[in-house]
Amino acid sequence: MAERSYWRDLTYSLFHRPASARRFIDGRMADILCMCDIDSMEYCYACSRPVALIETKAGKWRPVSVTPLLRLAELANVPAFVVFYARGYVLDPIYTDRTNLNGDPIYKIVEFQIVRAAEPNGKVWHMTPKQYFRWLSGLHLSCPCPTMSNIRKQREQQKTP
Ligand SMILES: [Zn+2]
Repeated sequence: MAERSYWRDLTYSLFHRPASARRFIDGRMADILCMCDIDSMEYCYACSRPVALIETKAGKWRPVSVTPLLRLAELANVPAFVVFYARGYVLDPIYTDRTNLNGDPIYKIVEFQIVRAAEPNGKVWHMTPKQYFRWLSGLHLSCPCPTMSNIRKQREQQKTP
């Protein structure tokens, strides 16, 4: 489902912070209530089963800590990745009438760098946007539900003449 707006309401995030929470609970507790957003959860359109958790970062690969995301992925038994995306200098032609959170125009993404969350300093995959969508498709096609299993079979039959 596409978002109608690219503006993110920070009200809850700010409310949750220690400086705010201390108004309602003791300072020690306010300091240890950790919370983070999950950038992206890819899930099966047919059965809603999560197929991957993704932390997205603008720019090129750099060391990042994603321990809570990794813990969640382990508990859910789904793969987790960190996806770095590089913007080009050309506006994305399908979003020329939109702006991002800062009011800036939306530029085309020209390259992705992807690492497994479990191995943030391990192999970095470089992908074009087309390769990235093919990779995402593979994650979705891995869902074991009957609907996705049928789609996999149909796609295999289309490949073989
Ligand atoms: Zn499914």
